[in-house]
Parts: sequence; structure tokens; C-alpha cells
Amino acid sequence: MKAQVFRGVNQLSYEDIPVPALEPNEVLVQVGVVGLCQSDIKKIRYSLYEPPRIFGHETAGTIAAVGSNVENWQVGQRVAVMHHIPCMRCAYCMNENYSMCETYKNITTTAGFAPSGGGFAEFVKVPGHIVENGGLIPIPDDISFEEASFVEPTNCCLKAVKKAQIAPGQTVLVTGAGPIGLMFIMLVKYFGGKAIATDLLPSRIEKALSVGAEAAFDARDPDLSSKIQKLTDGLGVDVALLAVPSDKAFFQALDCTRKGGKILFFAEFPDELEIPINPNILYRREIDLMGSYSSSYKLQNLSADIVFNRRIDIKALVSHQYSLQDLSVAVEKAVAPTADTYKILIYP
Ligand SMILES: [Zn+2]
Ligand SMILES: [Zn+2]
Repeated sequence: MKAQVFRGVNQLSYEDIPVPALEPNEVLVQVGVVGLCQSDIKKIRYSLYEPPRIFGHETAGTIAAVGSNVENWQVGQRVAVMHHIPCMRCAYCMNENYSMCETYKNITTTAGFAPSGGGFAEFVKVPGHIVENGGLIPIPDDISFEEASFVEPTNCCLKAVKKAQIAPGQTVLVTGAGPIGLMFIMLVKYFGGKAIATDLLPSRIEKALSVGAEAAFDARDPDLSSKIQKLTDGLGVDVALLAVPSDKAFFQALDCTRKGGKILFFAEFPDELEIPINPNILYRREIDLMGSYSSSYKLQNLSADIVFNRRIDIKALVSHQYSLQDLSVAVEKAVAPTADTYKILIYP
């Protein structure tokens, strides 16, 4: 089968490799669509993981083979694939910190080499632990693979929205109106909140408004803070969601968040970047800082419900589609987005 193998920093190699062989409790999925995620791009462009590997984890496809002990799944079923599933037994799982679970981190879908998602291949193997614990989600007949590939990223965004306890009537600053920021805007609206977005690209500012933001501004606007005060009865936003890895965006969020509000780090920052802050700013204004990484097992059904019942407008998020062969071109596109670049989907 064809696969895009990570052979070193910025080195993707389109290769013929063997289709993964199945153990009795495993399932093989023929990848229909796989979303290109910011985290894939980081893994390709920086020296974070030893090569060779096959990345890609926002996978939707068709079951192509099942192991001899698999009873509940049949060849031909269409599924969205969760690339990790927690153990549900460890101290992290007991506290619902599923993404910190060692099992969650260590057992993942694979197309070969060190397991790393494996969606950037024609076929991906789903380990027994994931098959047996709810990691395959049947796709309804009227839902496309394109839409189904959003179950995983929707879960990640939903987890952040839930963690920040965004409630009806609250105002939420979303910094960055790329694919993730736009999903945040849609989810905030779905849960009854009001999103205010910022971005540097005029097209994204407009797009933010078109998908439901109450207001959207250029992040360089010197009056941003006063404009946001005006929109929030002089208080500031209840929550800020950082969808860009920028210290400037953080300080802006700090300026624009109300006393007792929350700031959530969603985008992963460069490791070398440090943000100096006087703790009294947090103490006196009782600002909570929080982080949200990856998805939540507990939100899987709700994520599937949101996508499969079209409670957010997935079609508005997809801007580019590339064949698997052109993955490097897709990565370049995502790294240097033009006015109309949002979510990029890959077709093995
Ligand atoms: Zn992702
Ligand atoms: Zn666990």
C-alpha cells in the first residue's frame, strides 16, 4: 500500500509499504479521508519524534478486514477512528484526565513503524484495546467521510469548551480564526455563548463573523481591549481560548478577560518560548490559567452527535483537499496559509 513515511524533519517520503498484518483482536480500516492537524505539521517540521513514522490521526474510512476474534465489526462498515483510548483504571482516568493516561499515550493506531496514528496511509490498523473500548464510531449513512473526520478534532475543541465551563450567555474571546478558532466559535455559539474572535488576516476576521462570532477584530487593533470592554458591559470576557501560540495573544487575552475569568491554552507553544508574568496579576484578579490537550473519552458521544447531526457547519471549515501523494504540498499550504486556507483534508 502507499503511505507517507516521516523519514526526518521535513522529509515525507511517499512509499510502498506492506499492509499491516492483523492480530486476532485487531481491525484494519481503509482510510477514506484524514484531516491534516496542526499537531501533524509540528511532528513533521520539528524534531519531536524519531523517524520512521506514519502520522495522521483524524481518520474516517471503511473496515477492510477484521481479526479472527473480532465479533462486533464487519468488513464494509464505515467508521470514524479514535487514535487513542484511555485505560479507565489509572489515577489519571479516575480523575477524568484521560489524555494523561499512559495507555492512552502509548497505544495508538498504526500503519507501520512506531505507532503514531497512521492515517497518512491507505490502510491503518486499529489495536484491540481501541477496538474493544469504543474507539471505532459507526458513521451514519448520510454523513460523508469528510464530515466524519471531524469527530476527533471536534472532541479536542469540545474538551476545551467544557474544561473552561463555558455557559449560556457568557462571552468568549477566541484568539486566532483558523480551523480550530472557527470550530471554537461554532461550539461557543452552540452552547449558548457569544464568541469574539481575533486574527491577523482580514479574510479570517470576516469568516469568523460568517460562522457565528458576535464580533471579530484585527489582533493588532490598538483599541481591542476597550472594544471588548464595550461589548461586555465593561467587565471583559468570561473566558479566553488561545488558538494561536503567541505570547502577544496571551497578554491581549489577559487584558480582555474579566476578574474571575479563565484563560485556556489550546495551541501548543514553541518549547523555547517563555511568558513572564507577575503572579499578582492572577492573584488579585483571580484569573484561572488552564491548558487542554487532545480529546476526552467522556465527550466522544457528544462529539459524534455534534458532527453527525450537523450541529456545527463542518462544510464551512474545509478549504483544501489533497491526495496523499501531495501531503508535502498540503503541509506547505497549512504553514503559509493564504486568505482562504482553513481545514485541509487528505485522500489516501
Ligand atoms: Zn488533531
Ligand atoms: Zn488510564
